[in-house]
This record gives sequence, structure tokens and C-alpha cells, in this order.
Amino acid sequence: MVEHMFELPDPDAALSVVEDTYREESKLIARQLAAIADLLTVRTAEAEGIDPDPGWSMITGFTRTCAEVGAALNMAPAEASKLVVCAEALDMRLPRIAALLAEGRIDFRCVRAVVTRTELVDDDLVAKVDEELADRFRHWASWSRRRLITTIDAVVHAIDPEGVKERRATADYHRYCSVTKQLYGTALVHARVPATVGARIEQRITELAKSVCAKDPRTMDQRRADAFDALTENRGLRCQCGRDDCPVRGAGDDEPNRIGAVIHVIASAATVRGDSEQPGYLQGFGVIDAAQVRDIARNAAFRSVEEPTVTAEQARRYRPTAATARWVRVRDLTCRYPGCDRPAECCDLDHTTPFNHTDPAAGGLTVPRGLAAYCREHHRVKTFLTGRNGWRDVQLDDGTIVWTSPTGREYRTTPGAYDLFPQLRRQDAPAPSADPDDTPAEGLTLGRPTPRKRNRRRERAARVRRARRMLREQRPINAAQRELDRARRHEIKMRKRRNYSRFLRFLFKGDKPSNSPFAQWINEPLEPEELPPDWRPPPSPYPPQPDDPPF
Ligand SMILES: [Zn+2]
Ligand SMILES: [Zn+2]
Repeated sequence: MVEHMFELPDPDAALSVVEDTYREESKLIARQLAAIADLLTVRTAEAEGIDPDPGWSMITGFTRTCAEVGAALNMAPAEASKLVVCAEALDMRLPRIAALLAEGRIDFRCVRAVVTRTELVDDDLVAKVDEELADRFRHWASWSRRRLITTIDAVVHAIDPEGVKERRATADYHRYCSVTKQLYGTALVHARVPATVGARIEQRITELAKSVCAKDPRTMDQRRADAFDALTENRGLRCQCGRDDCPVRGAGDDEPNRIGAVIHVIASAATVRGDSEQPGYLQGFGVIDAAQVRDIARNAAFRSVEEPTVTAEQARRYRPTAATARWVRVRDLTCRYPGCDRPAECCDLDHTTPFNHTDPAAGGLTVPRGLAAYCREHHRVKTFLTGRNGWRDVQLDDGTIVWTSPTGREYRTTPGAYDLFPQLRRQDAPAPSADPDDTPAEGLTLGRPTPRKRNRRRERAARVRRARRMLREQRPINAAQRELDRARRHEIKMRKRRNYSRFLRFLFKGDKPSNSPFAQWINEPLEPEELPPDWRPPPSPYPPQPDDPPF
């Protein structure tokens, strides 16, 4: 009989250390950031003492602080200034988020996301954003990066819709596509495009890259790069396994790729009708604003996603109905394992209570609230790491899933779409129970801090004002550009339409001209279907009246 030479470490104790250090790390960073904010106060006061009007030539308090922080932390200037911006934002704009960090309830990753995604929100609105986000984070137990970003964006969209619209117009105005020559016979392709275009490109490249057989020797990255080339040449991707019996052999180079990209957007009917500015969700990408939703909706097919009622017979079948599957994926948005980000559209649907194949009526029924989206990896975790020493999950009536880990820890995940579409929540769903962990730990103060009013506000305000002024100046330029783009698209469409009529006339009447007095243009030669870059729409026969807005 072999005795254990030494005792194995206790997994529960080990995990406790992981949890404690995670919280301590957040608290330490909060202390560091608060100290940086203090330093900024002092240095700004000094800088303004020399010259009360911060101008160009002087070294501002911000620059002084960045220099000192950079030296102390061995940081490059850009990195140091990001940290100082973060410290300043927590101190001046986001005191409630700062308090959560100081309590170790959220981590620095979360704070950074909040700071960058709320940077251009007006000062008079940011307090509301701070409060709303802190409220939500306080009740969260498990969240993923995607979920975090979706929530921040949804809150900013709800509180500052005008600002969001303008920032998107500016970002859209700065779209570009560049190809630069690189070393060793390669090139770098860079493009900034609307999210919807990005989603389509991503989808087509992924589909092409996955269209080869499993024996293809290339890595996924290499296949994606080759797919990009195939896409520009409008052909498929040839498998390179070299086998005679390759299952996808033949579906290669010569065949034009017929894959049409389909993108899915989730939005409320009121937004599509134009009655609401509630943002939508571009699956796999994130929050998009109501105007973008309506843009897409013009050429889209619609499906209403309501919680389906299933018949008793459908509930006893293993496979969910299409409507049920759709509803669950829309409700969950991502895999429901704590922290997982994988989009629900590529997830498996799992019966939270296992389906009973021998007696379907006795097991987990195939009903909307008995299913959840799990990515393949976490579906495996649930299926194979089960039992007393494994992972167990229970789905509550409101769609919350309570996971119990091998060491008995509980993690809760709520459906992702609830952050964005509160109307999806069941009316009679129980209110979120108070977090038992909500009581402050010893030695912590939980008061509601208010932003400190200091003269360094001026310095920050000046930087933000500059950013906002740029946005304001950009507004008419964006509107004019949008109008021109629309006119160009319309002109090309009309030219194509006229050319097609001319072609039909030629088909039916040959060289004989049409003698219809209403469409003499049909006898004219074909028009070019591309516009010169300097094309402008002809002046309107109805000149604008003095009262008309300029656009
Ligand atoms: Zn092959
Ligand atoms: Zn997952």
C-alpha cells in the first residue's frame, strides 16, 4: 500500500486565494489611481500658479503628472497618460465606479472600458451614466468583456442619444481603406468601415476559411488571409489537403463563391418603425444606434422574436422549434457560462435539466425557459464535468442561471439581452434579490462620494471642449457628405434602370427607335454606370426657400 508522501493542496483554499488576490489587486489599483489624481491636483495647481491661463507654451499639470508617473512606473509616455486620464476620470466624473473599484467589486479592465467608452459624454450627463452603471455592476456577479461593453454602450445610448449619433457620424466620415507595402513581399490592408460592413466581411471570410476540409494544412489565420484574396476575386477557397478523396474537392478556385453574407440585427419594432431611439444589437458585434438599425432595416427581412408558446407535444421533443431556438439565442446573446463571450448564434442549445429520452414528460422539457445557449467548450464542461465534484446549473424562472462550481461556489449569469432590451424581461419575473454580498466588508466605507470640485476641472474641461467643438464643426460636413452619398447612389441606380430599359428596347425592337413621346431618352446611347469622383447632383428645380434648413 502506497501512502501519500505529502498532502495535496486544498482546491477550495487555493481558489480562495485566487479570489482574494483578485479583489486586493482592484483595491490596490484604486489606491494607485487615487494617488495619481492627488498628484494631478497638486501639479495642476502649481502650473496654474505660474500662469493662471493655461496656454500653449507652458507645461501643464497634466504633462507634469504624466512625466512623474511614467518615470515611477517605467511606462512609455502614451501609456502613462492613459493611466492619468483614467485616474482623472474616476476622480472627477465617475466617483461611483471609483468606489466599486476601491471595494474590489469590479476590476481595472472594467474601469478602463467605462472610462474610454464614456469619455465624450457631456459633464452634465455623466453623473447619470456613473450612477446607472454602478447600480448595474453592483448586482452583477459574472460578466464577460462583451457583456460589459454592451451594457456600457446601452447605458450611454439611453442617456446621451444625441451625442452617440454625432460621434458615429464623425467616425463614419473618417472611414478609409488603405493598402501599404510591407517588408518581405507582404502588404498590410487597413480599413475603417461601418460595423455592418465589418460584420459582413467577417462572416464571409469565416465561412470561406471553414469551407475547406479538416486535413487542410494551413492555420486558421492563413486560411482567413487566403479567403480575403478569394473574396476579392469572387471565387471559392480551394482545399490544399492534396487528397484525391477530399470531400470538398472541386469546390475550389473556379467556382464563384455564392455565399451571401447574412447579418442579424436585434431591435425593437418601435425602433424599426422610427417611433423609438432604443439602440439595436448587431449579432457578434455589439450595440448600434437606432439610425443604423433603420438603415439596415430598409433591405432586411424581419422576424418577430417573442417568447413562443410550445405545445405539450413540442415540449416533449428533444429538438426545440425554430422559434424557440431563435428566442433563446436572442435572449442570451452570448454563451451563458460565467465570463464567456462566444456569440449565441454559434452556441449549442442546452437543456438545463437534462432531457429524458426514455420518458420525455419526466425530464427537462424543451421549453424556452428550460434552454440556454452554451458554447461547445462550456457545453462539454457541463456535460462531462458533472456530479458532486463538477459543475451544476439551475435555471430560474427569470432566465438567471445559477452555476455551482466544483468547490461549491455559486456564479449567476443573467440573459445578455436584458441589458439592452428590458422589455424582454418577463413581467411577472421576480425582482432581482438583494445581493447577500452587498453588506460592506469591515474596514470599508460605503458612503456615496461626490465629485471633488477643484480647479483642475478647468484643464480637463478644456480638453473635452476641444473634442466636442470638433464634433460640432463636423456635424454639417457629415450631413452634407451623407446627402451627397445618397444622391450618388440614387443617380447610379437611375442610370442602371434607364440602361436596362434601353437594353430591353433593343431586344424587342432592334435598331428601331421607340416613338413614345414620354420616354425619348430610351433612344439615347447607354450611360456610364460609374460616376466620376467630382460628380455632383444637378441643382434642384425648386431652390430652397429662405426658411428651409440648409440640409
Ligand atoms: Zn481537403
Ligand atoms: Zn462558453
